[in-house]
Amino acid sequence: MGNGFLCLSFNVTLGLLLFCTHSTRAQVTAIRAGSVIFPDTGKSATNQQLLVEGGRITAIGTNVQVPAGAKTIDLSNYTVLPGLIDAHTHLCATVDDKWDLGDFWIMALQRRQGFRAILGAQHAREMLNAGFTTVRDVGNAGDFLDADLAKAIRFGIVPGPNVIYAGRIIAPYGGQFWDTPADRQLLHNPEYFFADSRDELRRAIRENVYFGAQVIKIVVDAQPYVYSADDIRFVVDEAHATSIPVAAHVQTERGAHNAIEGGVDSIEHAWKISDPDLALARKKGIALVPTDTPEALFAHYGMDTAEAKRVYSAHRDRLKRAFQAGVPIVFGTDIMFDLKGRSRGDLAIDFVDSMVDAGMSPADILQSMTSGAAKLLGVANERGTLRPGAAADLVAVRGNPLSEIHSLREVVFVMKDGVISREGAPLKQR
Ligand SMILES: [Zn+2]
Repeated sequence: MGNGFLCLSFNVTLGLLLFCTHSTRAQVTAIRAGSVIFPDTGKSATNQQLLVEGGRITAIGTNVQVPAGAKTIDLSNYTVLPGLIDAHTHLCATVDDKWDLGDFWIMALQRRQGFRAILGAQHAREMLNAGFTTVRDVGNAGDFLDADLAKAIRFGIVPGPNVIYAGRIIAPYGGQFWDTPADRQLLHNPEYFFADSRDELRRAIRENVYFGAQVIKIVVDAQPYVYSADDIRFVVDEAHATSIPVAAHVQTERGAHNAIEGGVDSIEHAWKISDPDLALARKKGIALVPTDTPEALFAHYGMDTAEAKRVYSAHRDRLKRAFQAGVPIVFGTDIMFDLKGRSRGDLAIDFVDSMVDAGMSPADILQSMTSGAAKLLGVANERGTLRPGAAADLVAVRGNPLSEIHSLREVVFVMKDGVISREGAPLKQR
């Protein structure tokens, strides 16, 4: 106790000293933007000046006074928008066609945690470079590698987006493995928390919360036995008690129904969903994170051209129905493979195409990648938007994504929390 008191008084003194020596203003950065997009309103403005100080936007407008000594950045030939958000990533997972035989089970069995953590760091850097300043990593991250990755990024050890993570996915027995030795310790734990009873569900949620999860991810219906609406309501109540949202992987109509009935915050994938359930999702404000793989990338899931076309069309049609029903749509990718010559961030931008095909306008898509996603992630008060007080997460692109959404491929500048992470020519894109 005595030691504690000494430490406390030392810290107070140190704090005062630090306060005194740093009472002068932090470095101000002034950014001249050709135009700025405000995705929450779908509006844009030309000839804007942004001031950034202490990681936050402090002013934005046409007649902003630039303080003497400010560092200036000229983006007057570009369009500035809030940093992008991918609400469904698995940064610490890659299923390789050759080494893992394209099988997630083999990957989970044979990849050591260290390798997957390094992979996660690489993917995080690639996402940030492509303009994603925030991602929500929804499990399949081994032994809480997502928590470690988020921490390493926060500490400035490796570059990457802000990572909001789920920790261990909670699922009925077997998780997303089928007819394999799912009870092998390596698979059951850490990859999934098999939770069937209420006690197991509560324990699983608390374990994730303990390790800092900011979202609880459940897999509702990967097995013939699925979580009931009551099970899900129990999960939602337990998670919401600590102000944490619930994301539900659903792949069947029944699973989607139970998840919506149970009151989750987002349904992930929901490839099969009825119109009444879409209407209920809209009424309850439940978001859909579609994660629709573009047709050309389906080959990486072992599909031939005809099958890819059939599956892609079915996904597109349900996204169209969901969008027209007024369900909030949030951008997410679910990429779990690497392609030679393409970064994970570059691949993520491909997923815009399926939203275009489903009839979403550039403004709708931008909203789903910024302010809409920030709302689902619970960070709308500071991210996904450009306004004084918000985190200085911004990207600059060539062209205007409001008229041509593929301008998102032309990222020339990325800033996260006021720190420039990328300046220069667009990455080599396809
Ligand atoms: Zn996923």
